[in-house]
Amino acid sequence: CIPDRTNLCSNNSFATLTVPPRFNSTNISLSSLETLTLDGYFSFENNHHAAKDFGNLYHFLPSAVLHPKSVSDISTTIRHIFKMGSASELTVAARGHAHSIQGQAQAHQGIVINMESLQGLKMQVHTGDMPYVDVSGGELWINILHETLKHGLAPKSWTDYLHLTVGGTLSNAGISGQAFQHGPQINNVYQLEVVTGKGEVVTCSEKQNADLFYAVLGGLGQFGIITRARISLGPAPKMVKWIKVLYSEFSTFSKDQEHLISSENSFDYVEGFVNINRTGILNNWRSSFSPKDPLQANKFTSDGRTLYCLEMVKYFNPDETKTMNQQDIKNLLSQLNYIPSTLFLSEVSYVEFLDRVHVSERKLRAKGLWEVPHPWLNLLVPKSRISVFAEEVFGNILTDTSNGPIIIYPVNQSKWNNKTSLVTPDEDIFYLVAFLSSAMPSSTGTDGLEHILTQNKRILDFCATAQLGMKQYLPHYNTHEEWQTHFGSLWEVFVQRKSTYDPLAILAPGQRIFQKAV
Ligand code: FAD
Repeated sequence: CIPDRTNLCSNNSFATLTVPPRFNSTNISLSSLETLTLDGYFSFENNHHAAKDFGNLYHFLPSAVLHPKSVSDISTTIRHIFKMGSASELTVAARGHAHSIQGQAQAHQGIVINMESLQGLKMQVHTGDMPYVDVSGGELWINILHETLKHGLAPKSWTDYLHLTVGGTLSNAGISGQAFQHGPQINNVYQLEVVTGKGEVVTCSEKQNADLFYAVLGGLGQFGIITRARISLGPAPKMVKWIKVLYSEFSTFSKDQEHLISSENSFDYVEGFVNINRTGILNNWRSSFSPKDPLQANKFTSDGRTLYCLEMVKYFNPDETKTMNQQDIKNLLSQLNYIPSTLFLSEVSYVEFLDRVHVSERKLRAKGLWEVPHPWLNLLVPKSRISVFAEEVFGNILTDTSNGPIIIYPVNQSKWNNKTSLVTPDEDIFYLVAFLSSAMPSSTGTDGLEHILTQNKRILDFCATAQLGMKQYLPHYNTHEEWQTHFGSLWEVFVQRKSTYDPLAILAPGQRIFQKAV
């Protein structure tokens, strides 16, 4: 059974509705926490920050926040709660960088573990034939990038934004424009150290405790807390050629995207965007992008049409491969059918490219627009139904406006490991479609929260009615039945693993899949 969505702010006031801890068995278990011997510490007051996340929609106040300094702090705490059994109502949520949308890293009246406190554990880069880096589960990907670059190496698969923790993205998937080639981040991990819902510290990999390893990857934090991860690395390029082109027809755009992700020797990154009802789009692009043909580009007007932007990147090292790289790019572009005057190019460092969303973050923060509500919706849509989806969603549901970027790109299922807990559509190729909306706090109009939530619901309803075989990414559901449907044939395995690794349902209550037995 699943708790109600009690704390969604309504009537556009966005006031935080927080519920103070009650005096009951929770408080008795809370006071017992003070008796634990830890390297770090608990804070029992002023924990409102732990009732917030990027979504800014849900605010569940915890009873305590653990700031661990060691893995043993986490196992001691969980083992203690586990031993109390049903006498304690306490649940435990690992909080990475809290960039969840619907309170997934929160714990109503429970304990939030501030995973970033573990960052003190040093990163260790191992060079050699199969290079890797050992990192803390609370480490930010941006720090991993900087550390591994010192050795000329870097992880192969990324997210679009790097100020997220390893534990947070590995609990979901970690998908970006490299995933068609390397799979998501959960497919680029050699080993994990995990604290289970019984407080046991277990090392797991493909060869050792494999069931736990695959359960935790994409497991929505349900089976254990990732305290350490061994991430696979590859040679890091120094520079990237970053290219954007536009299409007016969805079918041509998606055909070209699918062609690129299926070709040998393709680009190193392929994504795409939908631009709905935006005028002056070319001028709005980042100033570092220059049109290949400035004269033609100036004549191009979007006239408010919906346009599709294909974004591609080729990695290179200036001294080694520039000539070959230019020819490769020319060949690849010659196979595409974009609007010719809309070829835009830029050359930036690898770091600048990977950390690109942080630039937008700084701009939005400066305008006070980063901490607004974010009713995001992320979907995985099978290739065979993407044109039906696009026609209805971009051509009907979202014709008037969009309230943030809409990202869309295909990935190859064959490059993804299907043993993990991640649920995807059952087709060789599927699309990630991300509606990254921001809601304006005082608005009751088309940029207000209610309007965007209604649009999201229309999209979800359409997918269900048209039976598209869509799966939510970063899923969020309100009922037990919806979770069961989401997992489909994998539900029984998921429940079985829960009863093995977290039998009292202590972990990640904010996902609202299981409720702790009391
Ligand atoms: P949190 O929000 O802190 O936690 C997420 C969930 O994981 C919670 O249930 C939490 O309890 C659990 N958890 C956290 N740490 C651990 C741990 N160590 N062990 C076990 N469970 C843990 N995702 C993509 O795939 N691709 C993208 O390109 C992408 N871009 C994004 C851009 C922005 C601006 C934002 C806000 C999000 C983006 N995301 C993307 C989504 C992001 O990957 C997830 O929201 C991810 O969970 C965020 O990581 P976090 O560290 O903030 O996790």
